[in-house]
Amino acid sequence: MKKTVLVLAATLFLFGPLAAQSSVPTTREMNLLCWQEFGELVPTRIKTVLLPTGSLEPHGVIPNGTDSLAPEAMARDIAERVGALIAPTLNYGMTADMKAYPGAVSISKDAYALFAEDIMENLAGQGFQNIIILNGHGGNTAVLNEVAGRVSNDCRVRIFIVNWWTLVDDITKAVFKQNGGHAGNNETAYIQAVVPAHVHPERYRPEMAAPLAAPAGAFYAHPVTTSILLYEKGQGYPTFDPAQAKDYFRKVNDRVAGLVAEAIKQWDAAGIYR
Ligand SMILES: [Zn+2]
Repeated sequence: MKKTVLVLAATLFLFGPLAAQSSVPTTREMNLLCWQEFGELVPTRIKTVLLPTGSLEPHGVIPNGTDSLAPEAMARDIAERVGALIAPTLNYGMTADMKAYPGAVSISKDAYALFAEDIMENLAGQGFQNIIILNGHGGNTAVLNEVAGRVSNDCRVRIFIVNWWTLVDDITKAVFKQNGGHAGNNETAYIQAVVPAHVHPERYRPEMAAPLAAPAGAFYAHPVTTSILLYEKGQGYPTFDPAQAKDYFRKVNDRVAGLVAEAIKQWDAAGIYR
């Protein structure tokens, strides 16, 4: 009996310190990791980082921060599957034509480009091989693409930008049996799966929704006349169905995780920036 206790104590003594460097990170969020653990993980064991980017702007009857909350929830859901850490979200974006609405904040293109560029460069400098930007706001896309190209070339790092609502166009049509919209069925369902307490169907009226200019460029309103902008006339109204919300959330994240994993596999196979 005494011998067993001694052996057990010796085992704990020998392997205890190793347990502190177990193969499972204590968290995947860069905000929560201490520098020592981060250094143990990156780049030796983890080569991929997810960077959610969003905006603060009106979204029908769902949170103003929807464009940040959605990709942040997505990052938490897929990080383990794609072997990634999660960088803190870029909560502000460019939303000039919605800036007039209560609670909205828009930053200039120049400021956004410099900010995004510095963050991407730093993530590359920390040793990440793959920077995966999960973008939640269409107004950011053009600048993010441009900056990503520059940083990728300069830092020899792989950068992949996902505009989730466009990627899952077919899933939106399959789940809702119609097209989506800004703050429409698709975004409302996704965010209902994340923060149901902050979705307000009691404030909703169908008249709040209006179609986007069709054909594209047919008209331009500044500020936009409403924040629920239907991709197609007569389609995309929020449904507020919790079961549908959960189903949509799952399907969207599965698609995004699959795409990210595939992109990394292809880069590896091509031998780019190994
Ligand atoms: Zn949005």
